[in-house]
Amino acid sequence: MPEDKSNEKPHNADSEPSASSIFVAMMRQAAAKAVSKSPAAEGASRASFGGTEFPADREISLEPPPETHDIHRVRRRMTLRRPHPSSMAGGFLGAIFVVVTSTALVATLLMFFVNPEYMNPAVVRGLQLDSEQLISGASAAQPTPASTPHWLRRIGVISGHRGKGATGGRDPGAICEDEYGNPVLTEADINFAVATRVVASLESMNYAVELLDEYDPRLHDFRADALVSIHANTCYDFGEYVSGFIVGISEARPEFGADAFLRECVGENFGAQVPLPRSYNVTEDMSQYHVWQKIHPLTPGAILEMGYMLADQDVLTEDPDLLARAIIDGILCFMDNVGKPHTQLAADKRDSRYVIPLLATPTPIFRS
Ligand SMILES: [Zn+2]
Repeated sequence: MPEDKSNEKPHNADSEPSASSIFVAMMRQAAAKAVSKSPAAEGASRASFGGTEFPADREISLEPPPETHDIHRVRRRMTLRRPHPSSMAGGFLGAIFVVVTSTALVATLLMFFVNPEYMNPAVVRGLQLDSEQLISGASAAQPTPASTPHWLRRIGVISGHRGKGATGGRDPGAICEDEYGNPVLTEADINFAVATRVVASLESMNYAVELLDEYDPRLHDFRADALVSIHANTCYDFGEYVSGFIVGISEARPEFGADAFLRECVGENFGAQVPLPRSYNVTEDMSQYHVWQKIHPLTPGAILEMGYMLADQDVLTEDPDLLARAIIDGILCFMDNVGKPHTQLAADKRDSRYVIPLLATPTPIFRS
């Protein structure tokens, strides 16, 4: 049929295999003949050899011809390259998310620079702040009406000479001896009896209290609202009557700082409750006390010499509860007045020159 022939001719011309593919097919057939000795396979391959479509090739070869391979590979690549519709939607949503998030972040950051004038008056009233004060910044100088809860306020109490001494051995502190040179009373025992009572009582008031040894490793960079070191003075016989308690602070601290205020609170209350005179004979052991070089520079500290172990022995040994109570009242006097404005100090008939920060130190709460 002419129509068929006319169709076949261009078709054949189009699908005319290249010389290389014919050669490959021939080589395959030759290889197949060598491998397969069955007569059917031989006949099939011979019959197909003259034709253009190489049916024998397909029968013998188990895999598709190389051209088909390449087409598959190209199709696979095209499939991979084509963007997936769902991933496009995800990308769009992702872009919106990034824009919204960054806008919110920038808006939040800008909030810090907003003038308080622009705050909603209702919000200001809700916060119970006077808007005029807020604008002028006057409120910043006044303490907050709510006091810091006790459990957030840390107090350190050193039981003088407790634990190992500076050289690592036992350190009893001052010692009273009998006529034969045997020790009968140690300072460390007097101090410990008082310090443990002070700690127990302050703990019962929910303060965060730490009982510390003389060379306690926790003293390094120690942070607290107050630190009091409890001691008793020497049993040495000066040949005259030497009596009285002494309160000292570091010589490096300011004259009207928190330390000085703590010293006055302790001195005032100890003098009021303990029947001993106050002495101002502050020694270098007190003003250059080893603890002052260790604690955090903002921790207010005071050292108390409760009395002389010779002349004041009865007071130091007979009623440790009285001594403890006097020290506790001194510490509470300090804690209650911390952060009070000068006008309030003056109204309380206190020296208004004292400057006592609201919270002397940041108070990390941890139990070791
Ligand atoms: Zn001592």
